[in-house]
Amino acid sequence: MRPPRFNAASSFHADLKGRIKNYFTEKNLKTTGNFSLYFKAIAMVLAFIGVYIHLVFFTPFWPFAILEAIILGGLTAGIGFNVMHDGAHGSFSRKGWVNELAGISINFLGANVYMWKTKHNVAHHSFTNVDDHDDDLNAGAFLRLGPAQKRYKIHRFQHRYFLLIYSILYFYWVFFTDYKKYVTQKVAATPIKKMALSDHVSFWGFKLVHLFLFIALPIYMVGFLPWLLGFLIFGLATGIIMSVVFQLAHVLEETSFPLPDSLTNKLEDDWAIHQLKTTANFATKNKLLSWLIGGLNFQIEHHLFPNISHIHYPAISEIIKQTCREYGIPYIEHPKMRYAFASHVKHLRELGRN
Ligand SMILES: [Zn+2]
Repeated sequence: MRPPRFNAASSFHADLKGRIKNYFTEKNLKTTGNFSLYFKAIAMVLAFIGVYIHLVFFTPFWPFAILEAIILGGLTAGIGFNVMHDGAHGSFSRKGWVNELAGISINFLGANVYMWKTKHNVAHHSFTNVDDHDDDLNAGAFLRLGPAQKRYKIHRFQHRYFLLIYSILYFYWVFFTDYKKYVTQKVAATPIKKMALSDHVSFWGFKLVHLFLFIALPIYMVGFLPWLLGFLIFGLATGIIMSVVFQLAHVLEETSFPLPDSLTNKLEDDWAIHQLKTTANFATKNKLLSWLIGGLNFQIEHHLFPNISHIHYPAISEIIKQTCREYGIPYIEHPKMRYAFASHVKHLRELGRN
C-alpha cells in the first residue's frame, strides 16, 4: 500500500512556521529542553529505580506493594511521555547522544525504540487518523476507533468495555506487537527502515534485559504468584494511563478521520491543516497534568512542531491559536480532561452503533 500524499503546503503553514521561528529568535531560546526538563527526567528515572528496588528487594506488606506497582506503572508512562518521547523526536536535547539515551529508556521498560520511531515518528505523525496508515488507530477487532473500520456487533458495547482493552496495551505492545513489527518489518502499511546487525542485537538484547528485570529477577525474589499479581497491576496501570492520554488527543467526536482519494491517493488538506483537523488539546491550563504527561495535552503544538520540546508548548500555543483564528482553521481543544474523556466515550458509542 503506497503512502498517501498531502495537498501542496498552504500559505497558512509557511506563515505559522515563520511566526514560530521569530518567537525563538526574538526570545533567544533553543527549541530543545532545558534544565527543568532534565531535572524532571532524572527525578522520574530515580523514582522508578527506587520504587522498583523497594518492590522487588524489600517487598512491603501487600496493600503497599499494590500501591507501589501502580506507582511504578505511572512512572513507566511518565518516563515514556517525558523522556523517551522527546528523545525519540530529537527535541530533548541539542546533543544527539543525549536524545539517543533518552529514547533508549523505553527499551529498559520493555518496548523497543527502533520500532517506536517508525510507528510514532513516521506512521502516526505523518498520517494522523488515516486508517490503515496510522497504527495508533488500530486496536484489532476489539475496538472500532475510526469510521472506515469494519463494525462488528461487539462494538455496540465498546463505550463500556474500552478501558479493559486499553489496560492490556502495555502487555500487547511489549509481548506481541513489537515482535510482529520485527518479523513483518512493517508498522501498519509503513515499512521499517532496514535494521543493521547492531539494531538486531539491540532488539534482542534489550528484550532479554526486560525479561530479566521484570520477570526472572522478581520471581526469584518474591515468588511466582506475588510477582504475577504485581506485574499484572503494573502493566494494567501503564496501559490505561498511556492509552487514555493517546486517545484523548485524536479519537474524539470533534476530530476528523480523513481518507485519501481512491484514484489520486491524495489527502484533502495540506499536512499542517490535516494535523489540526485530526488533533485536539485538553486541559492545557492544568500545570500539574502538563508536567506529568510531558505536554501531550498540547497535542496540536506537538503535531505541528514535533521537533520542539514540550516545555515550549504553552508559549507557542498562543501563536498557533491566533494564526488558526486568522486563517479560519479549526483549533480543537477541551478545557478539561473530563470533557475530552466524555467526547471520546461519545465517539466510541457513535461508532459502535452507526
Ligand atoms: Zn510524538
